[in-house]
Amino acid sequence: MVPKEIKNLENLDRQYIWHPFTQMQDWQKEEPLIIERGEGNYLYDIHGKKYLDGVSSLWVTVHGHRKKEIDEAIKKQIDQISHSTLLGLSNVPAVQLAEKLIGIAPPGLKKVFYSDNGSTAVEIALKMAFQCSRKTRFLTFHHAYHGDTIGSVSVGGIDLFHQIYKPLLFDSIKANFENAADLIRQHHNELAAVIIEPVIQGAAGMLLQPPGFLKKLRQACDDHHVLLIFDEVATGFGRTGKMFACEHEGVSPDLMCVAKGITGGYLPLAATLTTLPVFEAFCGEYHEFKTFFHGHTYTGNPLACAAALANLKIFEEEQTIEKLQPKITHLTQGLARFQDMDYIKEVRQSGLMVGIELKSEKIRLGHQVILQARKQGVILRPLGNVIVLMPPLSITHDEIDFLIDVTFEAIQTVLKT
Ligand SMILES: *Cc1c(COP(=O)(O)O)cnc(C)c1O
Repeated sequence: MVPKEIKNLENLDRQYIWHPFTQMQDWQKEEPLIIERGEGNYLYDIHGKKYLDGVSSLWVTVHGHRKKEIDEAIKKQIDQISHSTLLGLSNVPAVQLAEKLIGIAPPGLKKVFYSDNGSTAVEIALKMAFQCSRKTRFLTFHHAYHGDTIGSVSVGGIDLFHQIYKPLLFDSIKANFENAADLIRQHHNELAAVIIEPVIQGAAGMLLQPPGFLKKLRQACDDHHVLLIFDEVATGFGRTGKMFACEHEGVSPDLMCVAKGITGGYLPLAATLTTLPVFEAFCGEYHEFKTFFHGHTYTGNPLACAAALANLKIFEEEQTIEKLQPKITHLTQGLARFQDMDYIKEVRQSGLMVGIELKSEKIRLGHQVILQARKQGVILRPLGNVIVLMPPLSITHDEIDFLIDVTFEAIQTVLKT
């Protein structure tokens, strides 16, 4: 791209785009980094500069960018049809994908309700749990993140993002790992469901749950007839080293939300998976009005479903999960360097999800670290003062080394000053 075109794009960005989760006053002062293309685990900006995609383009990319099989599946689907509705009709890739999803899902999940992003997948789970149980309250966890729509914010627990909307939200019961079972026992008569990000709370800054916790939670829910919702939006599709994080504990939910990695990071698609008992609570004569009156316009979009089908096929053919284990071990070994670094409070990891928490509480330090890493050719996005590493599953050992080296040096450079 010639310099004049670059300047023009940068100016147009500042003039027209309101970026998500971004203080736009700061954005206006910084040079926007505009991505032009991707290839494998790398992004290229409009200057032609190459960056390792250290956070999978916000936790979505699975097998890398421009993955041949997914590119081709989408192109092939375009030649058939790009969109048709699931309201009153069905479409070929949506049907095929539903079968595949149930095939890989934790035992007991039998039905697929499509939507188009993680927040809606959660909204749907909440509405289903309410309508099926006729109970109105939800138990959630401190520091939980379930998306940005009003219902999913109502079950969120991150003050920085959620506090301001409090007047708009329904009230949920906030638990921690110690008191969750007690709270379920106390409140089971009013609890429609418990919702949790299994194994690791992502947006909270990669907070890990004690081993065995999900089993106890499942038991408490069963004992008191409360539904259990797993939000696997971030953890699903191999990110923690298993296809779904709850497999680490051999626990199945009643409803499961998936999104982010479902299309390999190509197109917006989400699904809420349910058990037969949940589904059957909605079945009856039409005049009983048990229908689930909910549906988004692009529900089950054929292009997105075709991408997801190709994504899952690659998992099978390339044995992605099986080949992940040595990469996870290699990453763990690389992270050992951070453990005894002066500036680090804690390093947390589950599979390819990593949070490196800086000791200093100084505001926007994480942001400075990622700007420094960017200079060295790595794209990261922090959560406050937690540096997040979440590379695509297709990352190689050499690229893990590069990611670790650049992150280490960026932290050193910023914090020693
Ligand atoms: C990202 C995320 C969501 C929200 O997904 P969107 O597609 O951004 O709406 C929900 N839950 C979890 C655990 C997430 O990480």
